[in-house]
Amino acid sequence: MPEQLGIAFGTPVPTADSTRARLPRPPSLATVCGISCGMSARHFFGTLEAERVTMLVDTRQTTTYRDARFAHGDDLAYACERHDVGYAHIAELAPTADLRAAYHKVADGKSAAREERAVAWTAFLKGYARLVSTDRKVLREGSPLRDLLYGPHERIAFLCACQHHEDCHRRVLLGMIAKHVDGIAVAHLGPENVGGIAPSLKSPRRYLLEPIPSADIPASRMPGRRAS
Ligand SMILES: [Zn+2]
Repeated sequence: MPEQLGIAFGTPVPTADSTRARLPRPPSLATVCGISCGMSARHFFGTLEAERVTMLVDTRQTTTYRDARFAHGDDLAYACERHDVGYAHIAELAPTADLRAAYHKVADGKSAAREERAVAWTAFLKGYARLVSTDRKVLREGSPLRDLLYGPHERIAFLCACQHHEDCHRRVLLGMIAKHVDGIAVAHLGPENVGGIAPSLKSPRRYLLEPIPSADIPASRMPGRRAS
């Protein structure tokens, strides 16, 4: 029901299965990358350079929280300028405060069972997928995202603070772009993938109890939990 993407994106391709409608291959763009700002500035900009990323899209809901360090507010835009990387904060690619609050209300509770957290995380990611595809239609003609995808950049990175892509809405965003735009590959530039130290956190977010078809993300069932 929430995954009516062909309609959502206003694509001209008519098809009985609206989820298969696709936008044409962009003239320059070949790869969309996900990256975390939870690393040192040296590692971060070294990674962008090594991966030949020329455009950074900020998908955080807010950029001025206390632990943002080099990625705080205008500092990140300035640092990108100094490194010859384009920068745009696209607010409509961020989750809403309501979605985040609903997740944290469950996940931050000390007594929450692992399964409750997985249910809340699944609801968060599915809610985000619905938000960007059905509600905000972020790939609509003339949207900031669509204009970027069809612009001059070969490799664009999408940023969030979450360390691991599986713990972050950016995974859904990248999957959705790859599914709906022809010829686009996805790369996750997490520390574990670019020669750094993998995040050590034991995330409560790794288990997705239902798949997200609009982003081609399968469910990852919790060990010991029966399929529903
Ligand atoms: Zn995130």
